[in-house]
Amino acid sequence: MIRIGHGYDVHRFKEGRECILCGVRVPYERGPDGHSDADVPLHALMDALLGAAALGDIGQHFPDSDIRYKGISSLVLLKEVVRLLMENGYVLSNADITIVAQKPKIAPFIPDMRRSIADAIGIPVENINVKATTEEGLGFTGDGSGLASHAVVLITGIG
Ligand code: MG
Repeated sequence: MIRIGHGYDVHRFKEGRECILCGVRVPYERGPDGHSDADVPLHALMDALLGAAALGDIGQHFPDSDIRYKGISSLVLLKEVVRLLMENGYVLSNADITIVAQKPKIAPFIPDMRRSIADAIGIPVENINVKATTEEGLGFTGDGSGLASHAVVLITGIG
């Protein structure tokens, strides 16, 4: 059985925070603020995976009130989500992730981002796409106060 999932996430930019996107450190004077490393595209991806399997959302599985998740790498959480899916009889077929930000420039980091996600999940890099867009200076991504990310996935039932 093939199932589809969608995820969406937004975080506010904060001065002095590291900018970690898809597990890759992007040099920038600000980074997404949050309880974990606030890796926005990975949060969108995890929500898409959980959504596809009808397993809720990341807030439910990794509450930001839980000290265990303070500053944690979202790659660790992603591995846990993939394990959960496996437990429920699903594997990821492919994922398509869009990062929405005016700044920083994402394009140079996309090959590393795809590799980082594929390695964490343990699937070929061809099955992971990452792309980026600006919103032409409009809204909260346009004025640089935050960044957003969308993800869609297909998962396949095993066994
Ligand atoms: Mg988030």
